Amino acid sequence: MFQERVYNFSAGPAVLPGPVLEQARLELLNWEGTGASVVEVSHRSPEFSAIADRADDDLRKLLKVPENYNILFLQGGATLQFAAVPLNLARKESIVDYAITGSWGKKAQAEATRYAHTNIVTDGANNQYTCIPDPATWKVSSDAVYLHYTPNETIHGVEFHFIPEVSDSPLIVDMSSTILSQPVDIARFGLIYAGAQKNIGPAGITIVIVREDLIGRARLETPSVVNYQVMAGSGSMSNTPPTFAWYMSGLVFQWLQKQGGLSAMADLNKRKSSKLYAAIDASDFYSNAVDSACRSRMNIPFTLADPKLDATFIERASQAGITNIRGHRSIGGMRASLYNAMPEKGVDALLSFMADFVARYG
Ligand SMILES: *Cc1c(COP(=O)(O)O)cnc(C)c1O
Repeated sequence: MFQERVYNFSAGPAVLPGPVLEQARLELLNWEGTGASVVEVSHRSPEFSAIADRADDDLRKLLKVPENYNILFLQGGATLQFAAVPLNLARKESIVDYAITGSWGKKAQAEATRYAHTNIVTDGANNQYTCIPDPATWKVSSDAVYLHYTPNETIHGVEFHFIPEVSDSPLIVDMSSTILSQPVDIARFGLIYAGAQKNIGPAGITIVIVREDLIGRARLETPSVVNYQVMAGSGSMSNTPPTFAWYMSGLVFQWLQKQGGLSAMADLNKRKSSKLYAAIDASDFYSNAVDSACRSRMNIPFTLADPKLDATFIERASQAGITNIRGHRSIGGMRASLYNAMPEKGVDALLSFMADFVARYG
């Protein structure tokens, strides 16, 4: 049992800022003098509407979302968007392009095959998803309705540090594990979506930022709750939204503003991840296989020289207050997720634990 908060390196649901959790705790029983919890009031009440509007405004400011984009607050996770994107944008006979640089992109493409003809423009499987294949080699379709890719692959730790310019079709991106980690030029994309539980807030809410001209094209069979036109027209309240997750996400947006916004986050995230990569690269005991040009700043998988020590590493780490460091079950090893809410001190603690571990077992 920990009396204090641990350094939680979970890939998601992930660490949230301490001050956000404190505020939620303070307000839980009696929120803003209403005598009720925020989870006990109507989503159509003026009080909740104010929360919803403020979250929309704050996110718009943080990400500098242009006016011709709608922000939707939906349910179903990023996984529902794997289906919602083709349902809203493509016909059964349409061609939709997918660049696959890890497990999530693969899942997105697999789901889309049920709704349209998917063309895989590139697949990094040949190199075990350790790099992003050169966009010059991508086989894009001339008539694709969109090109989908995953700017940060959470499991493989592969991140785009550029926006590919290979197609005239709108770019659709799954930013679940990298949104809000740095400034991004929203206008370069047709649609951005992200599940909240990595870098936004608690699980249960999914952000969709969609350019206006892509709204209103949904197929008849599209469920209303993921129909971008229906949801944009109702302020994401055609049915009951996940009010608590929306409220908590709003608190995270306010916290981000207090930290100095996304350029401050970018500096911090660069520092945190550079330190960890430098320590891994300097060691004969730890390694990370990802090409240095496309290493993720958010999710850093690494292996120990002797996998028989994995269980001991995880156990000792946990005793040192470093938790959820186990790698994804599909690739094994370790993974440190360094989302915005992971303080630099947490990375320092991990580094000193890693050095101690090598000294004892390496
Ligand atoms: C976690 C994750 C998902 C899945 O999100 P759900 O909210 O569980 O549907 C999809 N894509 C990426 C990049 C992720 O990191």
